Amino acid sequence: MTPESATSPSRRVPTDLADRLFDIRTIYHEAGIERFERAREVLDRHPDAERVVVPSHTAIPGLYGNAGNVDDWVRIKREVLVLGEKKSLTARPNGRSSDWIAPSTANGCAMACSYCYVPRRKGYANPVTVFANIERITGYLERHAARQGPKTEPNQCDPVDWVYDIGENSDCSADALLSDNVRDLVELFGRIPNAKASFATKLVNRRLLELDPRGGTRVRFSLMPEAASKAVDIRTSPVAERIRALDDFVDAGYEVHLNLSPVIVHEGWLDEWAGLLQQVADGTSARTRAQLAAEVIFLTHNEDLHEVNLGWHPRGEELLWRPDLQQAKRSQSGQWNVRYKSTWKSRWVGQLVDLLGETLPECRVRYAF
Ligand code: SF4
Repeated sequence: MTPESATSPSRRVPTDLADRLFDIRTIYHEAGIERFERAREVLDRHPDAERVVVPSHTAIPGLYGNAGNVDDWVRIKREVLVLGEKKSLTARPNGRSSDWIAPSTANGCAMACSYCYVPRRKGYANPVTVFANIERITGYLERHAARQGPKTEPNQCDPVDWVYDIGENSDCSADALLSDNVRDLVELFGRIPNAKASFATKLVNRRLLELDPRGGTRVRFSLMPEAASKAVDIRTSPVAERIRALDDFVDAGYEVHLNLSPVIVHEGWLDEWAGLLQQVADGTSARTRAQLAAEVIFLTHNEDLHEVNLGWHPRGEELLWRPDLQQAKRSQSGQWNVRYKSTWKSRWVGQLVDLLGETLPECRVRYAF
């Protein structure tokens, strides 16, 4: 059985997913969390939710590690919210899609993509935790950016600004449905002169269009061909809706990039990508295309996740698990990850980058692997 439905794992409502993603019934929180204004706001939004005091936002029995409890994942994602305090604040150097990974203002995800590596690390239901000490986090980020001074050398993250990834552990479009943390971050980076925020998303949350990012926030819309997305992107906005949102986000003052990931290779994959990129070219304005850049990331899958997925969504595994195309490598944590065989993969990466150059010539490729 799938988490979303017993019969249709990719079933989704096309227009109002953001409105139905959450129906918060239980809020787990640390003792004294009401001392934070953000916590009081979140609690006030859900006056009927049961409140459960827990010793720590990271140790809640039943919420994490329940790999076998597939039926409960989506119910927990929809109905449970955790409120906590982010205790250690560090901006970690990155260098790939961002210069720094910002300390999280939320963690967990309301969506359920079957290839997602996050549940493996954090327990499968992985509901959203909102960190209530937002002023401390934004203050830390402002001081951190000030210490960097101007960016003097362009890099693959950005030619002029220091880039902070604000969504490493969550999807900010979904987080913005639960608290004003994302609004505060967008406002912060709208006024910091030398830095911008960045996050990848698979959800179209049009409430973000009401904010005033002033070019200080980059939204990286994740795209893959619709047929594959329907099989593996569970509880996400349809790809066509994400493409339709690109112009609107640019018009609202966001920088908009493409996160082309994961690229899943199967028979006919390159033709499907040609169709997708053409959809983007046809569905966007010249202004949007002129500011686009893309990151291209081919699929990494994992043996343990494959075993879990076979129990609830075997159709997705027909795409994701391809031993004839993949090679295994043991990760530092001792798990077996699989990637496309390196000689073939480098050719496929080249083919997709060439296709991008032909179909969306304005779109710079920030990196591809
Ligand atoms: S939206 Fe991102 S974080 Fe959430 S399940 Fe999908 S891949 Fe994972």
